[in-house]
Amino acid sequence: MFFHNNDKSDLNDIADIPREKESALKDDFKDSKSHQNNQNWLKKNYKKYYFNFYANITLPEKIHLHEFGFRHFEGEKMHRHLSFKNSGELHAFVLKFAPSDIYCSSSLYSRPTEPMDKKEWGGSELIFDIDGKDLHLECALTHNYTKCHDCKSIHPGVLAKCTNCNSSRIYIIDVPCKNCIVSLKKEVTKLVNFLIDDFGIERSGIFIYFSGNNGFHLHVLDSDYYPLLSNERSEMASYLLGKGFKMETLGIKKTQGDKFVPLSKSKQLLEAGWRDRILKKLKINFYSSKNSDSDFSKQIEKLENAMKCDFQQMVLKTVDDLSVKIDPMVTMDIHRIFRLPGSLNSKSGLAKILCNDLKSFDPFNEACFFDKSKVDIVCFSPVSLLFKGKRYGIHEGNNHVPRYVAVYLISKGLANIDLKDIQDG
Ligand SMILES: [Zn+2]
Ligand SMILES: [Zn+2]
Repeated sequence: MFFHNNDKSDLNDIADIPREKESALKDDFKDSKSHQNNQNWLKKNYKKYYFNFYANITLPEKIHLHEFGFRHFEGEKMHRHLSFKNSGELHAFVLKFAPSDIYCSSSLYSRPTEPMDKKEWGGSELIFDIDGKDLHLECALTHNYTKCHDCKSIHPGVLAKCTNCNSSRIYIIDVPCKNCIVSLKKEVTKLVNFLIDDFGIERSGIFIYFSGNNGFHLHVLDSDYYPLLSNERSEMASYLLGKGFKMETLGIKKTQGDKFVPLSKSKQLLEAGWRDRILKKLKINFYSSKNSDSDFSKQIEKLENAMKCDFQQMVLKTVDDLSVKIDPMVTMDIHRIFRLPGSLNSKSGLAKILCNDLKSFDPFNEACFFDKSKVDIVCFSPVSLLFKGKRYGIHEGNNHVPRYVAVYLISKGLANIDLKDIQDG
């Protein structure tokens, strides 16, 4: 293994998560005995996972050309600019250190251990991140938790201030529900359709991963897209987000008499991309207007009356509905390192795992690799969880729960491991 001493892991280089808030929270607890107990217990369990399920890990073809990064249960620091000659070398490292998080670059470099400006970039997979927090779901307001930095109390729901001490230094703990997962999957399906229909990417080159917490990562392994630079990836992201969409883009213009008329009735122009999507969604038919602009305007007026909405507003709302809620920063950042497929996500203890069948995929079953042996935990708040098809009603205080429930709640900061379980492992 190689390690570069001049490790300048600046903030915008950091993996796939906004760490600032989380780090601040963990700093508060860093010295507490129970926090250390939790970390030690989780580490033991992670070690067991990497011993039994190392086969879950999917490595890039040319592993020696990728940069790796790690976080450990001891301390908050991100260790980057590491590389491994082969899978065996990585396996030995992971078993020895049982890291809390494992990351790998989407890019290939001639010299992956060098600082960023000396690595010699050689192309990058195309990556998309769909995160639950970006969907702004109503259900999240009820089933997530608010943790206070100052008084450390935990409140059910999403609050702007701590109701105990009035502090606004708060942190949201997300506990995604079934609806959250269904909504995320819908975004993934939209994205896959865009990539196939609008970008000509083969379905076989698109790999859908559950992120291990509250989202999905799409990796596109299509060498045509590897050379795309950051600004080109940014344009792709803007297209998917439907940014800056204009009426003219739709092939419609407004006349001086305030009527909407088609710019062109070319089938080729209208039956592709965003235009096709919007016209289909609004059930507007260019061809039924018999090539007459006034017929077309009437169609729009009828639609405006039926929807009780101005046409332009209608189009903007449709663009918003049809756009894919990706994080554009992730797609455009070619120097980022991403959670390694098959590794555990320390925010939940679930694995980042390939979804072979997105429709039936259940993260609380298929991404959960800890056993059902019972352990004792002390929970800070009542929590309701659905794991492996079974509903768990966790109450505040002591609970005797399957190991996978314990790992999840402790990773979320919603529970402590009971001391007597430290000895049992
Ligand atoms: Zn408080
Ligand atoms: Zn939800």
